[in-house]
This record gives sequence, C-alpha cells and structure tokens, in this order.
Amino acid sequence: MLRLTEIKLPLDHADDALRDAAAARLGVPPGEVLDITVFRRGHDARRRGAIALIYTLDVALRDEAAVLARLEGHRQVSVTPETRYRLPPAPAVPPRHRPVVIGAGPCGLFAMLILAQMGLRPILIERGQVVRQRTQDTWGLWRRSVLTPESNVQFGEGGAGTFSDGKLWSGIGDSANRIRKVLEEFVRAGAPEEILYVSKPHIGTFRLVSMVEHMRATIEALGGEYRFGTRVEGIETDAGRRLRGLHLSDGSFLEADHAVLAVGHSARDTFEMLHDRGVYMEAKPFSIGVRIEHPQGLIDRCRFGPQAGHPILGAADYKLVHHCRTPEAEGRAVYSFCMCPGGTVVAAASEPGRLVTNGMSQYSRNERNANAGIVVSITPERDYPGSPLAGIALQRELEERAFIAGGGDYRAPAQRVGDFLAGRPSTALGSVVPSYRPGVTPTDLALCLPAFAVAAIREALPAFDRQIKGFAMADAVMTGVETRTSSPLRIKRDETGQSLNTPGLFPAGEGAGYAGGILSAGVDGIRAAEAVAASLSALAPAG
Ligand code: FAD
Repeated sequence: MLRLTEIKLPLDHADDALRDAAAARLGVPPGEVLDITVFRRGHDARRRGAIALIYTLDVALRDEAAVLARLEGHRQVSVTPETRYRLPPAPAVPPRHRPVVIGAGPCGLFAMLILAQMGLRPILIERGQVVRQRTQDTWGLWRRSVLTPESNVQFGEGGAGTFSDGKLWSGIGDSANRIRKVLEEFVRAGAPEEILYVSKPHIGTFRLVSMVEHMRATIEALGGEYRFGTRVEGIETDAGRRLRGLHLSDGSFLEADHAVLAVGHSARDTFEMLHDRGVYMEAKPFSIGVRIEHPQGLIDRCRFGPQAGHPILGAADYKLVHHCRTPEAEGRAVYSFCMCPGGTVVAAASEPGRLVTNGMSQYSRNERNANAGIVVSITPERDYPGSPLAGIALQRELEERAFIAGGGDYRAPAQRVGDFLAGRPSTALGSVVPSYRPGVTPTDLALCLPAFAVAAIREALPAFDRQIKGFAMADAVMTGVETRTSSPLRIKRDETGQSLNTPGLFPAGEGAGYAGGILSAGVDGIRAAEAVAASLSALAPAG
C-alpha cells in the first residue's frame, strides 16, 4: 500500500472525492485505485468559512511498484509503514513469582494486558473498587456530598481517566507502534473505530466504563487476576534492595520480585510509604490554577465561524498559552489544560476535607458549557523546595483552602471572571451556569491560590481574550482549585525500566512522572511490561 499525506478536501466533500483526490495525486485513473483506508483525518480551520479536511490515506493500487518508481522522492507519497505492534518474546523459563501490577489505571491495565498476552498470568492489585461500584461511589460525592476515600474519581478500576473526556492524543512518538496498540485494544474493547484515524480522538466517559470491563474479561481469560479493594501498604526488599514482596491492606504478604508501580498522581500515601522505604524519588514541576467555563457556542463560533455546528467538526476545543511579564508573575507560563468541549466540571477529590476540580464529557460533547483548566506552571526550585514530597504538601494546602472557601461540604469555590479581574469576591453568578456538582459557593478564588498564581491568571485572561473573543467575558465562571495537573514527583527509573535504587520495582505511568494522560499512560504501561519481560528473561537460568 502507499501512504498519501496532506490530501485536502472541503468539509462537505462527496464520498468518492477521496478516490479522485488519491488518483490525481498519484497520476493514475481512479479505476487503478483498488482500496482506500483513512489513516488520519484532521481539519484546517485557519480560513474562516472554508474549513478543509486534511487526510492521510493508505491506498492499494493495481500496479503499486510502477507508481512508486515514477514518484520516487515525492514528499507526500511513500510506502505505508508497518503499524502492527509486536509482543516482546516471553521468558523461556516460567518466572518464580507471577509479575504484579499495582494500579488499574490505563498504565496498569496495559501492563496487565501485555503481560497476560505473553502468558505470564500477572496479578493486579487495585485499592479502589470494580468500575460499576466505583461509579456509584463517585456519584455519592457528586450527588450527595459523600466522599469514599478509596473509591472515587481518582481510585478504582480504570484509574483517573474513567470519568473524563477520554481525549486520546499525545505528543509522544510511536516508532514501536505502542500508540497504535493502545488504540486498537481500545477499539476491541468497544471504543468507536474513528479513534484510529481522527486527529484528536475522544471516547467520553460513558463508553470508558464498559471498555474497562471488557479489558478485564480479556485479561482474565488470558490468566490474569484482579484483586480489588486491596491497597499496597508496604514493600519488602532484600539486603541488596531488590524487591521481595508487597504488604497488602488485607494483612497478607504477596511475594513478588517484579512489580509495575502504576499508582497514578493521587496516591499520596503510597508515595509517602515509598519515600519512607528509601525508594529514590525527586520533586518535579506541575501546575496549579482553576477551571473556567464558557458557553460552548462562544468557542464554536470563534473557532469555526459560519461552519460552527457542522457534525464532522463537533464541539470546538482550544489550546492557549501566555508567558507572564508582570513583576508578581514574571517567568510564569499560564496555559489551558485538559480542555473538555461540551462537558462538565467534576469534583475530583480523593482525600476528606480537600477539594480539587477536573473536567469530563460524554462522547457527544453536547453539554452547554466548554471547560478547561487555566493553570500556572510551578517548579520545586522556586515554589516547593526541600523534600521530594513538598509538592504534595502544597497541593494539600491549596485543596484544603478550596474546601473551606467552598463551605466545607464539597461545594466548590467559584467566581465570575469579571469579579476576579476586578479583585472583588463574587456574591452571585451570572449567565454561565456552573456545571460542578454538588454545587458551588460564589466567593473570592484569591483565597485558594498563592498571590503569584492569581496575578498570573489575571494577566493571562485578557491575553486569551485577544485569541478567543469573549474568553474574558464577565460572566464566565471559574471554579477552584486545579492542583492535579500531573504528578508532583518523579520516581526515577534506569534504562531497564527499574527504580534507580530498588530493582524489581518498575515505576510507570503518570504517578511515577512518566506519562501525562490516558494514551501516554497506556503506552508507558506497555513499556513497563516489556521491561518486566526483559528482566525476567535476563534472570532466567541459562539452558
Ligand atoms: P491512574 O489512572 O491514576 O491509575 C492509578 C491507579 O492506581 C488508581 O486506580 C488507584 O486506585 C491505584 N492505586 C493507587 N495507589 C495504590 C496502592 N497503594 N495500591 C493499589 N492500587 C493503588 N487524560 C487524558 O488523556 N484525556 C482526558 O480526557 C483526561 N481527562 C481526565 C479527567 C479527569 C476527571 C481526571 C481525574 C483525569 C483525566 N485525565 C485525562 C488524566 C488521566 O486520567 C491520567 O493521565 C491517567 O489516568 C493516568 O494513568 P495511570 O494509569 O498512570 O494512573
């Protein structure tokens, strides 16, 4: 097959326009084109009223060799590369202990799947509940203000991304086809086929729940085992600091010499335990801020002009960055984070007495508001020096301030943008109705954030308004606080994928500081499984 890139067609092109465009690019009659697969579809919205679709196509021809010879060196025509993921070879000798995966987020699930597909019968330890029960527990917070600390938006089967927009794009490369593997396994588990080719795929929260169940059935059928409601509370190492096993919350000890640590960015107690046990870790930068809501129609009109509402385009998104210059915020970057078109702001707390926001949406993305984090970058050197755990202390402090400002019952503190920019508390909200449940308390968000972050966001909003007219509209609503943009620390690993000073422990995913988002966490889970397999093969006795 031949791969053709940058094929540009109008938004409402006819079905056979793809064949005609491919034939024209290749200089052959349309009848020579036997088959066409869309590998990627994006859009170019730079020309108002003339949004174009941009395709990458894989094309089968009657005489591929002749066309290729004629077009040799053409920038937009090449042989279709291999996209299949190849499982690493399984160790020749069965391991002494079954490999263990800690955490059932995307990282842990893909580590499990690969290890199970290699026949290694991995064991998954997950502190939270099976996804249906977890959904009930999560609704408990959203509907009744009851937080279940071990089963919530952060903890439980599916991990942090289960109640999300399910955005599936990432800036990471894919030379080993791991991204393709994640997307294909998601489709096998029930995701829409289009995630394989649209440039910014998303799944929405509803489907994610059943996909996670489907993946469990696959993993169990391959001999994998799940233990829910079980937290890893301690690790045991030998004299050389090599992992020997795990202490579990049910009081048992699980012998293990290979464990993928995929605990996500909210496993603060687990980070503390690992730090106490001497596992090497470092503080790393992350970001803090608020979530902002606008009418989705405002974003659509600004991005798509007269073509707003076209079904192929869906609800518009945005990505904004501003580099601050005012003295209080100098050197800070403010950017939009985890933008959820047509979605809702969600209560994402996992610790009692602390409050944190995030965003989610359904596949249809047809709620009335657009929301995104508006966050300020912070660094250990400047903002939380000292201990690798100092970023967690800062997160906790801000989340406590938000809990108190919201009224102490998991309502979130909220403020109109007009009031925030004028430096006065909100006493009521306006035309934009906040979507956060169990509700919001109009107040002053400056109570919840450091002064530099308030100054930085105050400077950034008018700058964003110059890119999206209306972004700083007085009635846009901000809800606080956003503190879990990524892990505040990194559990460093060496080139074999193992902890720098605790071999046998394979830190992976977002919590260990090696991923940011569902897709990259899944890819890192695959990488971790490959590293486990390589280590098991190296340890297996020769002959
Ligand atoms: P996690 O998904 O956090 O999973 C870690 C798991 O480990 C959890 O299930 C936890 O219960 C378990 N665990 C923790 N400690 C222990 C322990 N001691 N013992 C046993 N189990 C333990 N990303 C996107 O790409 N697109 C989005 O649209 C998106 N939206 C989001 C919306 C929300 C509301 C949230 C909270 C996150 C969103 N994210 C999104 C981020 C994404 O969810 C994470 O990047 C991703 O889930 C990280 O995967 P992970 O497997 O590394 O960790």
